[in-house]
Amino acid sequence: MTYLFERRAPIGILGGGQLALMLHEAATRFELQTHVYCQKEDEPAAQQAHEVFLGAWDETEAIERFARSGIKWLLCEFENAPAETVELIGRLGVPVHSLSNVLARAQRRESEKGLANSLGIPTPLWTTFNADGNGKLRERPDLSGWPMSLIAKTNQLGYDGKGQESFETHTEFFNTHWEQRHARFVLEERIDIDFECSVFVARNAKGDGVVSQAVRNRHTNRYGGGVLYFSEWHKTAVPARFEKQAREYAARIAEHLKLVGVLCAEFFVTRDGRVLFNEMAPRPHNSFHGTIEGSDVSQFEQYILAVTGLPLRPMKFIRPWAMFNLLGEHINLLPQFAEAGWRPHGYGKSSIAPGRKMGHVTMLAADSHRLTGHIRKGLALTKN
Ligand code: ADP
Ligand code: MG
Repeated sequence: MTYLFERRAPIGILGGGQLALMLHEAATRFELQTHVYCQKEDEPAAQQAHEVFLGAWDETEAIERFARSGIKWLLCEFENAPAETVELIGRLGVPVHSLSNVLARAQRRESEKGLANSLGIPTPLWTTFNADGNGKLRERPDLSGWPMSLIAKTNQLGYDGKGQESFETHTEFFNTHWEQRHARFVLEERIDIDFECSVFVARNAKGDGVVSQAVRNRHTNRYGGGVLYFSEWHKTAVPARFEKQAREYAARIAEHLKLVGVLCAEFFVTRDGRVLFNEMAPRPHNSFHGTIEGSDVSQFEQYILAVTGLPLRPMKFIRPWAMFNLLGEHINLLPQFAEAGWRPHGYGKSSIAPGRKMGHVTMLAADSHRLTGHIRKGLALTKN
């Protein structure tokens, strides 16, 4: 009998946060070990991994030690891992497939939105602003014909609503002089969002792909600068025609990138019924944490299936589910959620800060009516 992989073979994970922690938990279910590359030994995954390699993203020696530690596959939980780091690991013999290219695309808002548009996928209206070395605009983009409300976003390193600002008028935006603080940034029209949804894609080296059902997401602040508050799935959480469109767009992106691994694409559904691509993350995503309990395969298991070449699972959601994030201001509520029947996931982070993701809780419900009741209770708890 030939084995697809050796028992206890190590997978390498770039990044040591909660996504890496949950990847580690999934890996142990496949009897795989984990080698984690991260910056600090108190990061969530570093406390659990079989081996930890500490180093900066550009620290060649540390990266080489990690790459030569016997890892057979490379997974990435951190979308800002430099493409060069991945290329170096690839040169040392670890298969990295398209990862460096996919990361490079997803790291800049202008390149992910540009990619979507070049594939015929609609986005909000957007444009790039460039400043010279003295904080002066090189050129003032023409916004005539744009709606009044705008959102400015840093081109790189924005996450959980950070690096964004919302404006009611063009004048307000121009008077704020973002160019004095940011050399390059993106400006978008602010969309009148009906709701937000996301889709998770896994694809392997053979080109087999699986696209998940769409989940519906609510952020803490609807008009920019918000962090994911909760996600929910039930059969009609995302009406079929929007879901079909979002799944087709996400698959189109994954195919184009020749993805080997996973990506999550975020969409806005507008009040006038359009599905607009917002951004993508080439890694497991907060909005799919509910798949740990609510799906035939969790997003973390699916990522491992995709990179190791084991057959992908259909990612069918079993029962209606909801997932609430527990931020710094909510983490003390974990026992109350658990008391109300929610499944707890604490990430073991050493320091608590408001807005910082400390854990999450998931609820499976018998039907969408009961799910709504649980969500209402979750909202009431977290508003305390
Ligand atoms: P992040 O990388 O922080 O997740 P996003 O671009 O996804 O950045 O923005 C975070 C949230 O801000 C979105 O999920 C949405 O709720 C809101 N938002 C972002 N862009 C727009 C927009 N153009 N119009 C309306 N709301 C937006
Ligand atoms: Mg987002």
